[in-house]
Amino acid sequence: MARIVMKFGGTSVADMDRIKKVAARVKAEVDAGNEVAVVVSAMAGVTNQLIDLTRSAARLYDLREYDAVVSSGENVTAGLLALVLQDLGVAARSWQGWQIPVLTDASHGSARIEGIETEELARRLTSGEVAVVAGFQGLEPQRQRITTLGRGGSDTSAVALAAALQAERCDIFTDVDGVYTSDPRIVSRARKLDKITYEEMLEMASLGAKVLQTRSVEMAMKHGVRVQVRSSFEELPGTLVVDEDEIVEQAIVSGVTYSRDEAKITLRSVPDRPGVAASIFGPLAEAAINVDMIVQNISSKEKTTDLTFTVPRGDVARAIAVLEKHADSINHEALSAEEAVVKVSVIGVGMRSHAGVAQTMFSTLAEKGINIEVITTSEIKISVLIAEEYLELALRSLHSAYGLDKA
Ligand code: ADP
Ligand code: ASP
Ligand code: MG
Repeated sequence: MARIVMKFGGTSVADMDRIKKVAARVKAEVDAGNEVAVVVSAMAGVTNQLIDLTRSAARLYDLREYDAVVSSGENVTAGLLALVLQDLGVAARSWQGWQIPVLTDASHGSARIEGIETEELARRLTSGEVAVVAGFQGLEPQRQRITTLGRGGSDTSAVALAAALQAERCDIFTDVDGVYTSDPRIVSRARKLDKITYEEMLEMASLGAKVLQTRSVEMAMKHGVRVQVRSSFEELPGTLVVDEDEIVEQAIVSGVTYSRDEAKITLRSVPDRPGVAASIFGPLAEAAINVDMIVQNISSKEKTTDLTFTVPRGDVARAIAVLEKHADSINHEALSAEEAVVKVSVIGVGMRSHAGVAQTMFSTLAEKGINIEVITTSEIKISVLIAEEYLELALRSLHSAYGLDKA
């Protein structure tokens, strides 16, 4: 007998038929004598619809109300799954984030989990009741308002719950049967990995492989949670996320990822003086806007500079508003924003000990006539910003160039 956490994403609970299949899978674990906590996402597409509604209500919206709206999708699935389980004769109840509670910080829209009070939940699991937990939700420190954990946050709900409940494993059921060398929906030659290190999974997730939310991997790494990504539709072994020493043969590059959630902002002719970067990025940080890639060019005019940086696409309007508000202290001549850009990254722990990885990336893109707009690197990854129209070509060419194509 074991205590396990099973997480089902949006496509896995997309309609009643699939919810019933999920329930059957949960029942099988209960019948095998396990204590089961299930974490569910909103039905496929629902969170997007709720976000669109929020945006159509107000251009610069109040994030507390955003959370009130977008957290609601998960309530529906949790309740429905509990009902179906009860109908199958399985003792079950639904739990919303605030009912457990899942405690977070006050960063509405992308809150971090700070703790989970699992006493009552654990007591009920021990007594044989299945807990169906609405993922993605938390409660801010004043315990007055609901928070949400950022897109894909149900993964983090599941891993955090597995850590807090000291579960034996945390299975993430999704619409692919594991973690691949690249998004299998775009790169048909992508290969499924049996195992991947926490560190590489962390980079892949943070660089766009949305199969796991970045914070869920951070959390799993910190608490040693055994995470397996697996298919919700077939009984297949998935991909295990493990420590580096559990991997026998390590490839130099293990994955190629992309992120469409990018927008490029350029400030032209900014006075080139000490403190200028702080005057731009300080206010953006205060507004909780994540700036990622940055390049600073000497502009054609003397004593001024052009600054280009990227922010998440959904934050462009807010970023422009913040920059316009501080226009007097930044003193730029012009501001432009471009949303048709994507970030493509190659990742691998083997990069630490091998030279030439970046050169392969640059020459492969050059051969295809793809212009690189911004480059950033770290110890185990290289990222480039390119025009969105070249995304698929770039991914497939890089995947082949690094020898990742399946036989
Ligand atoms: P869920 O709704 O179950 O949380 P997501 O849509 O968030 O599912 O994540 C699964 C999707 O992640 C897959 O359908 C796939 O298109 C995408 N994906 C991107 N990169 C990868 C990768 N390297 N391996 C597997 N899936 C990936
Ligand atoms: N429903 C939320 C989203 O679409 C959380 C999740 O599915 O993980 O981002
Ligand atoms: Mg997801």
